Amino acid sequence: MAKSWSRTEITIETETLVIFSREAEAIRVWCDGCEAESLMITPAAAANLAGVTTPAIYARVQAGALHYTELSDGRLLICGPSLGLNQPSTRTVRQGAEP
Ligand SMILES: [Zn+2]
Repeated sequence: MAKSWSRTEITIETETLVIFSREAEAIRVWCDGCEAESLMITPAAAANLAGVTTPAIYARVQAGALHYTELSDGRLLICGPSLGLNQPSTRTVRQGAEP
């Protein structure tokens, strides 16, 4: 049981990294909202991953629905976990569905 769980997490992490390296830059920085170090991605990448438009991402940021951080050069980065990334529940359910 425990082995199956850890294997699921590793798989998801790998998939996430593949997505990020292919779609956009992502960095790990401190997120005040998560009170933890989180993977931050560009608004365009966030929109892509969430299946919405970039303006929709900005709207969510302004509504306080997404965590974000601003880099020293003024660029905005979106907190991946607040976007729903790194939440293994959906895939865990699917993998755990085996008899
Ligand atoms: Zn966050």
